[in-house]
Amino acid sequence: MNSTTPFSNALWIGSPRGGGARTLAPAPYLRKTFAITGAIRSAQLTITALGLYECEINGERIGEQVFAPGWTDYRTRVQYQTFDVTAPLKAGENAIGVILGEGWYSGQIAWFGRQIYGERPQLLAHLEVELADGTKQSIVSDLSWKTETGPILENDLLSGESYDARLEFTGWSRAGFDDAEWQAVKIRPTPEILVVPTVGPVVKRQEEFPPISEVRKSTWHQNFRIFDFGQNFSGRVRLRVTAPTGTVLTLRYAEILKPDGSPYFENLRQARVTDYYTCKGGSEEIWEPRFTFHGFRFVEVLGLNPEMEFALTAIVLHSDTPKTGHFACSNSLLNQLQHNILWGQKSNFLEVPTDCPQRDERLGWTGDAQVFVRTAAFNMDVQGFFHKWMQDVRDGQKASGAVPCILPEPHPLMQGVEDGGPAWSDATIICPWTIYLCYGDRKILEDHYDSMKRYLDYHATHRSKDFIRYHPDLEVWNGFGDWLALDGSGQTEGGTAKDLIGTAFYAYDLELMIAIAELLGQPADAAQFRASRAKVVDAFQQRYVTTAGLVTANTQTAYVLALHFGLIPESARANAAHELVRDVKRRGFHLSTGFVGTPYLLDVLEANGHLDVAYQLLEQETFPSWLFPVKNGATTIWERWDGWTPEKGFQDVGMNSFNHYAYGAVGAWMVRSVAGLDLDPRAPGYQQILFRPRPGGTLTWAEAELLTTHGKVAIRWDLGETELAVKLTVPPGTKATFLPPTGYQGSEKPFESG
Ligand code: BGC
Repeated sequence: MNSTTPFSNALWIGSPRGGGARTLAPAPYLRKTFAITGAIRSAQLTITALGLYECEINGERIGEQVFAPGWTDYRTRVQYQTFDVTAPLKAGENAIGVILGEGWYSGQIAWFGRQIYGERPQLLAHLEVELADGTKQSIVSDLSWKTETGPILENDLLSGESYDARLEFTGWSRAGFDDAEWQAVKIRPTPEILVVPTVGPVVKRQEEFPPISEVRKSTWHQNFRIFDFGQNFSGRVRLRVTAPTGTVLTLRYAEILKPDGSPYFENLRQARVTDYYTCKGGSEEIWEPRFTFHGFRFVEVLGLNPEMEFALTAIVLHSDTPKTGHFACSNSLLNQLQHNILWGQKSNFLEVPTDCPQRDERLGWTGDAQVFVRTAAFNMDVQGFFHKWMQDVRDGQKASGAVPCILPEPHPLMQGVEDGGPAWSDATIICPWTIYLCYGDRKILEDHYDSMKRYLDYHATHRSKDFIRYHPDLEVWNGFGDWLALDGSGQTEGGTAKDLIGTAFYAYDLELMIAIAELLGQPADAAQFRASRAKVVDAFQQRYVTTAGLVTANTQTAYVLALHFGLIPESARANAAHELVRDVKRRGFHLSTGFVGTPYLLDVLEANGHLDVAYQLLEQETFPSWLFPVKNGATTIWERWDGWTPEKGFQDVGMNSFNHYAYGAVGAWMVRSVAGLDLDPRAPGYQQILFRPRPGGTLTWAEAELLTTHGKVAIRWDLGETELAVKLTVPPGTKATFLPPTGYQGSEKPFESG
């Protein structure tokens, strides 16, 4: 353990009992009574666990965080938390109690199973009390603590929690509780990892709401009820029940209902996603699970009968990333799309940026984070969240410089493949750069610079031939392609070639690295990146672009990447854009892009003179489009364009989440181009604001607001008969430039607020 930690001589302790590779275990309760010998001046608790912990002192819950100490790469580091606990302590007898949960440490992760990092949870705690006379008293986790298992019969983030209220111990974290029957704790091995202060926001309860309706009620022969919360989200429920002792309630969670009205559980794959509650009986009982969460809109409850009183409340959980952005416009379907994007973010920014919150996955997929980071940084304050996750990325980076596709990496995914593939592992450059742009945060670039350089070296030496990244001659694993595109990419033959995607992102990485090296005062590095980029661009053009500007793959994504990353010679750009538009029109103004091409599609159309086509795609209501799920009642972003269609019903249950934020990456375009609120990269963090509204489609007005560190930035435009009325809000101390849309006159000179 790192000797600089404030844990004094505390020892790692745990229960003598634990679960197995396939068997869930009861949660251990740990406690200790201690005497404080005089009046207290102050007291501080420093605490962490491998697994999850909840702490109480004298019956009072310490802290508001959920799933502490958070998920990090436990092979490298674990975070600790510090609390001022002066208030709950008193002179005389006191008690501290801790419940340990399995969490990511020993519970199930994705489809990899249980006990990925360790066998069972363990605690490390140090309570330092300063008395009024200046003397200090220390209470640490050690052999003097006692343990027992109680009402939490099993707990797991993916499986759920089982709670038998008849086994509750009243007053277990207070002095005077009789623990004579409790066992001594076991000393657990001290892990050779860093124990570090918490970076970034912790998970907290964020919102609560009741169901909007009950879609199915119990009858005399069917004792299950289905509640609809009206919103797909991540979290859990709090139940209130009055029922006879021993009544067992089974709660199952689903995102959507099947046409026959029953919940669609099939897409949860191997995740059990079920809570069990056994009633104590006698009077009203209130319960919320501690060590689990689900991704759902509907709850099915079994075990009730019409005489029992029962109510549910939704508890929304996510990392504490306050909302900063607002977007609205005259098309109410686009407003619902924005709502769905925000809820996709709330549902998946939980400790790490996850792909989805419901099935046996919930992992920090790098590709998903990369495509969405710009949109995320408008909706909510995610600066700290990404600082923490980039630390996870560094912890997971291989000695070779390769960056895996999932971080924290719970399991070496594929034997021999340490690289995450194009557009996925490139998150290591794209995410810090975007956080720098959106928050003016140079530190994240400084922290991550070496990692980025090692990453690029790896690609130059191990994954490229003749400056073509993932050249087919190398016969290496080459990534996920344009994942879930509708042109065959990524799944079967055809679509956008993976080496094309790889080389395009190689050029983009180098472009960003030139800017980063210059910014950090590394001119020699910048020169080297510039020289490499010229070679990569040349190789790309030789291999994939004809002189007329056709791109070999002839997919929307191939054109989008080539145009967006500056890989088409100036003289051929108009032709290339024309080919892209031709494909969009051939599909009846529909997109065919997957995870990789979708984020830049509308930017590319706009930048190349096809704003009208961009709006046709944005406002398209028929499949495939952003608004097709909205028209079909979506409250979050679907993983697939065709998660459900009237003709084919549900997609393959193996990959059909209704809460994946990736396609929500269009949110950035709605803010930057539809409303027109953008930043100037030359003075990042909205020090210099760019207002550039681009009205189009059916829209008659649009507005966006963003709470920046300088204050509120806002724009609102209204289309009149002949003119565009624009209202701008610029915070003091910043500068702004207004770039009017084509056909309108206005100030293109910067103006300073104040
Ligand atoms: C995840 C994705 C991820 C992908 C890799 C899926 O199982 O849900 O969002 O990026 O695998 O292609």
